[in-house]
Amino acid sequence: MDRKTLKKLPKVELHCHLDGSVPMDVLMELAEEKGIPKDIMKNAIAPEDCEDLKDYLSCFEVILSVLQTKESLEKATYAVIREAHEENVKYLELRFGPLLHQAEGLTTEDTIKAVSRGIKKGTDDFPIAVNLLVCALRHHSEEENSQLFREVSESSAGFVAGIDVAGDEAHYPNECVASAVTEAKKNGFQMTIHSGECGCANNVLTAMHLGAKRIGHGVAVKDAPAAMQKVKANNVLLELCPTSNIQTRAVSGWDVYPLRQFLNEGVAVSISTDNRTVSNTTLTDEFMHCVNHCDVTHQEIKEMNVAAITHSFANDVTKQAVINDIEKQFELSTTY
Ligand SMILES: [Zn+2]
Repeated sequence: MDRKTLKKLPKVELHCHLDGSVPMDVLMELAEEKGIPKDIMKNAIAPEDCEDLKDYLSCFEVILSVLQTKESLEKATYAVIREAHEENVKYLELRFGPLLHQAEGLTTEDTIKAVSRGIKKGTDDFPIAVNLLVCALRHHSEEENSQLFREVSESSAGFVAGIDVAGDEAHYPNECVASAVTEAKKNGFQMTIHSGECGCANNVLTAMHLGAKRIGHGVAVKDAPAAMQKVKANNVLLELCPTSNIQTRAVSGWDVYPLRQFLNEGVAVSISTDNRTVSNTTLTDEFMHCVNHCDVTHQEIKEMNVAAITHSFANDVTKQAVINDIEKQFELSTTY
């Protein structure tokens, strides 16, 4: 399948970080507004071979320096949605960590409202459905993360459909967020947790035990058959982000990327960018890599997008509308 066809097909993206996906021109604009040399934003793009996840995450420092106001958050959100729409993403779950945007005085509620305004504007202007996930960061204290989820559950701002845990998994395993996450689950939040990104399949099991219905990445189960069977038996979806997974050395290269293995095993998987700007990629590029390196077919691309929307945190009406669109457009595209 060629890139042009892939770009036109309707797609679903479940794993996209707002901060890591702000288009470069917008980052530069925000830098200029703040009186920072705009070229410094080039540091936001991670090298193709980072040392590890921690090294990759260091790119976010420069991005976060310009995402500390309501206006910048709204503008950034709108720009990410526009880019997703331009490659025909029909449903996007955007995630962000409110505590990372409070260096200049914003509150959690301020950040969620600002991002929600960006979503409202983006979904008014483009035919795309968007929901928001709130991320706790692993390096924050358990009390800070519990407080965060409490505030989110009390917030009246729209679009929050679920929660996530992100950050340095190697140094802060899921035990560090267990009580915050358990409380949030009691408050009715749907949950995905980044796990199995640093070689530790056991983190995938603890995430499932905490109630995660999806796992961010989860690629470590490729070498842990029992964990992989549990993922499959519980119908938990792995949110694969191929370029990012290779950059952070979660997987050593395309030759051992486990997508084909997961598809053959019947494990539910979706494809996402993780961070469009930091990983210098698009969802079309990610699917193109899957075609070139893992021999995925037109039918498999359709099935992964259907799996993505089925496991999304959207309501049933949105899910059905997106499934109908995927079915129709993929059917038509076989005749291109
Ligand atoms: Zn991620």
